[in-house]
Amino acid sequence: MTQSISVKCKLIVHQELRREIDRTLDRFADACNQILDTAKVAKCWNVTKLHHLVYHPVRLSTGLKANHVCQAIRRVVSNAKAVKQIHKFRPTSISLDARTFKYDESNQVAGITLISGRVNLPLKIGGYQIALLRGQAPTSATLNKTRQGDYYINIVVEIDAPPTGKTPKVVGVDLGRIDIATTSTGKAWSGKQIQSVRDKYSKTRANIQRKRTRSARRLMRRLQGREQRFQSWLNHNISKQLVSEAKQLNAALAFEDLTNIRQSLNQQPRNKTERRRTNNWAFYQLRVFVAYKAIIAGVRVVFVPPAYTSKSCSRCGHVHPETDKKKSYRHGKKFKCGHCGFDHDSDINAACNIAALGRSVSSPESPGFSCRLEGQLDLFPIAAL
Ligand SMILES: [Zn+2]
Repeated sequence: MTQSISVKCKLIVHQELRREIDRTLDRFADACNQILDTAKVAKCWNVTKLHHLVYHPVRLSTGLKANHVCQAIRRVVSNAKAVKQIHKFRPTSISLDARTFKYDESNQVAGITLISGRVNLPLKIGGYQIALLRGQAPTSATLNKTRQGDYYINIVVEIDAPPTGKTPKVVGVDLGRIDIATTSTGKAWSGKQIQSVRDKYSKTRANIQRKRTRSARRLMRRLQGREQRFQSWLNHNISKQLVSEAKQLNAALAFEDLTNIRQSLNQQPRNKTERRRTNNWAFYQLRVFVAYKAIIAGVRVVFVPPAYTSKSCSRCGHVHPETDKKKSYRHGKKFKCGHCGFDHDSDINAACNIAALGRSVSSPESPGFSCRLEGQLDLFPIAAL
């Protein structure tokens, strides 16, 4: 079984080519908007039928290559299926296929067809991207332009999924603010160090912010970069250890669904400091790192619904009666079950619950595993590391 993931790679683009890419992006958005208008009027959302209606007029008016127009039609139809209300397309991305894109592994170059013809753009990538792209002949990619004016290409590759046989063991991982990660096997990574680094930078930032000079702004950016690099370094280390432990135990790794982690954190009342400390981006990055290292190591990763993972007892499954919302079996780092008397570290208890949920969803028939993973995998450029 394979699963498709997209590998995000930064492109090195010289000044004179920028205009050419931007022109192609403009025309592609233009094509999408024309196709969308026609589809709306004709009430036609079928790729083949829509093709007959729009192909010639759109090619004529935009000057795009044949396959660009085909991809624009696909983009419009798949967007219409994915979202109820379709907004106008903006010139920020273009879909590429085997005719308009080629990955050259020996030179780490992406060949991309623009409106005026084929260009070769070098990739600025690190070890992970290289490992994931190794031996691949990808036939699909998306070229994106960021708000900052950088160009990226998301290359879709097929990766052999780890064996789908039922994994007997699952290591649950609880993510938190006091300890960044705690496993059901009892390992924990403290968040103290990163917290003190973040606090330090935030104080310095507040001081600089008062001065509104250009050099102050530059210094700000540099500090931000430093803080992020430290966070990345830490996440690389934690993810490496998590994956290697799972590999040694021949176990899968289970995490809580991140979208819900964000929600549950948002529900808690907190002040400005607390808000800053709730670094969702860091959790997201940690999971991305884990996901990629896991694919390379052949370790399965599953995501479980987070409801009650920290509130229920991992021994008897009992949850504190909801009637009194203030009361919980969890008090900070301590967990004591009022039903069976189980007394444990609260994060490890949560990790054990996540592991148990992970065991129940890690069966091969479990729906949604690979597509969920696929949707969330976007590799950060890590060339800076
Ligand atoms: Zn209990």
